[in-house]
Amino acid sequence: MSAVDREADVVVVGAGYSGLSAARRLVDAGLDVVVVEARDRVGGRVWSETTPTGALVDHGGQWIGPTQHHLQALADEFGVTTFPTFDDGASLEIRDGGRYQFTGFVPTSDRSASADAVAALLELDLLSQQISPEEPWTHPDALELDRLTLGEWVSSEVGSAAARHMIATAVLAVFGAEPSELSLLYTLAYGHGGGSFSALLRTAGGAQERRFHGGAQQMALRLAEQLDDRVLLDAPVTSIAYGHGRVSVRADRADGNGNGNGNGNGGRAPWRVEAARAVVAIPLATQGRIAFDPPLPGRREQLTQHAPMGSVTKVHAVYERPFWRDDGLSGQVVSDSGALRVVFDDSPDDASHGVLMGFLAGHEDRVLDGAGPSGREAVALAELAAAFGPMAGSPVEFVEQHWSSEPFTRGGPVACLGPGVLSGCGPALRDPVGPIHWAGTETATAWSGYIDGAISSGIRAADEIVATLDRPLRRGS
Ligand SMILES: Cc1cc2nc3c(=O)[nH]c(=O)nc-3n(C[C@H](O)[C@H](O)[C@H](O)COP(=O)(O)OP(=O)(O)OC[C@H]3O[C@@H](n4cnc5c(N)ncnc54)[C@H](O)[C@@H]3O)c2cc1C
Repeated sequence: MSAVDREADVVVVGAGYSGLSAARRLVDAGLDVVVVEARDRVGGRVWSETTPTGALVDHGGQWIGPTQHHLQALADEFGVTTFPTFDDGASLEIRDGGRYQFTGFVPTSDRSASADAVAALLELDLLSQQISPEEPWTHPDALELDRLTLGEWVSSEVGSAAARHMIATAVLAVFGAEPSELSLLYTLAYGHGGGSFSALLRTAGGAQERRFHGGAQQMALRLAEQLDDRVLLDAPVTSIAYGHGRVSVRADRADGNGNGNGNGNGGRAPWRVEAARAVVAIPLATQGRIAFDPPLPGRREQLTQHAPMGSVTKVHAVYERPFWRDDGLSGQVVSDSGALRVVFDDSPDDASHGVLMGFLAGHEDRVLDGAGPSGREAVALAELAAAFGPMAGSPVEFVEQHWSSEPFTRGGPVACLGPGVLSGCGPALRDPVGPIHWAGTETATAWSGYIDGAISSGIRAADEIVATLDRPLRRGS
């Protein structure tokens, strides 16, 4: 066992929005906190970057919508302003190889299929309102709803194949997963947590409503600035030993000689922090890679094994200007096939250049993994050109973020729980294990899967710890 390098009241694992929010709350409560982050940056699934041609892209989370009050409050606090997602003009629907224009929320080329899809979404909304986002497993029919996949429900309830494709496209955009990969109970709880499925899917009035001037990572960067040297970067946590009122977190840290390569090979040394409590604020799929001593309770272990991330690659094609707007197009596409099932106009607010952004998601994203960045680029550009014409196939720049190959995220945008997981393991999502408290957007009860849920989950975990204190924390108490 290496010597203790740092002592703290609370150690927070992960410097995404969740961990940073937990840390700030704990510091505000007067506690000594250290945040241990694997990457050389904060923000986790939210990462804003200026590309070589000067375009600012959000590689991960980017939007904020109504009722996302925690995220809005952070933006207000730091003076970060928002602007509406470009939503003017006609959107494109690619269906059965045809290309159609529509305005509003729902594609209209096959009205009967659209009506079926909307009816199914409404039915899902009605069902979801009966499910508690806090404890979905307590619903009298929880077991039955959790035995079904969303795909099975859609197959039995939605007659038209075109409507089923529409729903699948929506599900791919939201979860990075196919309907067959998601438990119906999980999907319903998720929908209720965001208010409704229509809120999840809408641009105006929904989760895609607005973007941040300067990118969505800014508030995370500002939180980290406030936390200052309490945040330790480039230090993947490898093991957590715990006992009564005691946590020992071991990380693999660059050795200070500039030799660290971020891959855990060479030039790295173990680093250990001892604390009285821990907040673990990382995706469930990455938690399974940490060695816990003693082993976690079986139900918690099962949960981490059954919470795979969705599969998503976010691509940005940058153009000199948003030329599609000349043709009265919004830049939005929904497609029943191909790799890019959903596209948005991600140009800056001043339209000084044009950006089309799309998601490769679910099965197609996994299949295209072997194609590598150049293969994915070729596929994405061919599909953009098919939608918007040849000019779309020749951007001045193309960038992608392939989340599945990020070892500290392992996919995205969110964990996708299949049948049986929530009903069997649900309480383990948030039940503390000894001195270890669990955060991360996957543990949120409102806007789970979103930045807003990440923030609220961090605050909730911090409050759990503060609530256990009737005096300042000391290790071993
Ligand atoms: C492509 C994409 C698009 C999205 N779009 C939106 C959107 O528009 N709006 C929205 O609200 N949400 C969106 N999301 C979801 C949103 O980004 C996440 O819900 C949110 O950022 C999760 O925050 P978190 O703190 O819970 O987890 P994370 O952001 O995953 O943070 C966890 C942190 O823990 C670190 N970590 C992992 N393992 C270890 C370890 N062993 N040791 C130490 N540190 C570790 C990671 O490096 C990371 O920094 C999107 C996500 C993706 C991927």
